[in-house]
Amino acid sequence: MVYDVIIIGSGPAGLTAAIYTTRADLKTLVVSGVKWGGQLMLTTEVENFPGFPEGIQGPDLMQNMRKQAERFGTEFVNDDFTSADFSSRPFKVSVGGKTYESKSVIIATGADTKWLGVPGEAEKIGRGVSSCAPCDAAFFRNKNVIVVGGGDSAMEEALVLTKFATSVTLIHRKDSFKASEIMQKRVKENPKIKIQFNSEVVEVLGESKVEKVKIKNNKTGEVSEMPIDGVFVAIGHIPNTKLFKDIEVDGAGFIKARDHYLTNIDGVFVAGDVHDSHYKQAVTAAGYGCAAALEAQKWLREQES
Ligand code: NDP
Repeated sequence: MVYDVIIIGSGPAGLTAAIYTTRADLKTLVVSGVKWGGQLMLTTEVENFPGFPEGIQGPDLMQNMRKQAERFGTEFVNDDFTSADFSSRPFKVSVGGKTYESKSVIIATGADTKWLGVPGEAEKIGRGVSSCAPCDAAFFRNKNVIVVGGGDSAMEEALVLTKFATSVTLIHRKDSFKASEIMQKRVKENPKIKIQFNSEVVEVLGESKVEKVKIKNNKTGEVSEMPIDGVFVAIGHIPNTKLFKDIEVDGAGFIKARDHYLTNIDGVFVAGDVHDSHYKQAVTAAGYGCAAALEAQKWLREQES
């Protein structure tokens, strides 16, 4: 059996794509991965996804999307993607020792937040440690927070946080930022933001939530403790593209997308954080999933005519 579309990935991009392709009567298989649902499965309250005025828990939102995709006939294989052969059509997608064939493919494997990997960080994600200021800034009203990183994301996170927090300290390991000049200017002109260069967070401390961080000055070697309520990590993302041998990616590993949905291979589309290093939001991923599905549908129609 040859599917019309195989969607690799089951976050907001993949599941939105599946809702659209199945409603278009395309035979669709989602390769969901053993840990299905993407980054929202690791989130608690989601307050910025439209349609949920009281907010919704990340896993509940993903469960709803999955049910919606299943309702229209999406099939799922709950195993991890292992490889794909895009050299001839139908394309071949291998999952846990089994190979599936499809006329088209949508890659929606997402990206993982890059964390610092220091002691105390992992267990406090959602309890003071965050990687998304637009999602979590409102929980830090009148609090003191740090943002780690020196790129545009760190600048943007810091600026978003100033709307709520009393103080925002940007901690960067180098003595200058890599962020664009305009973002740096905005940060430097904001009276709520303090900057600490040549500094690395080496430990996150606290009983049940973040209370302090240990910061090392990498010029002098001096380690000090800073009392703090929140730690926002903005040091980049790691796109899940390692297993795609023939797909063009940029220097950071994100899929190079033309018109937001085309890859370098005809019939292989892309959606979500695996190509979007900029917005990285559930709602934009869902939007990209919709676009990729509509384009795949159009492309399949053109192949048949
Ligand atoms: P970047 O890769 O641009 O920057 C990552 C930053 O994190 C760098 O300063 C890097 O340090 C630092 N870093 C990386 N690893 C570590 C580590 N282990 N410990 C401490 N620091 C670390 O990622 P961004 O997410 O900031 O940006 C991604 C892309 O999105 C960029 O193209 C950016 O321009 C774009 N973007 C644009 C925005 C806008 O225009 N408004 C907003 C947000 C993103 P170092 O400098 O030492 O390498």
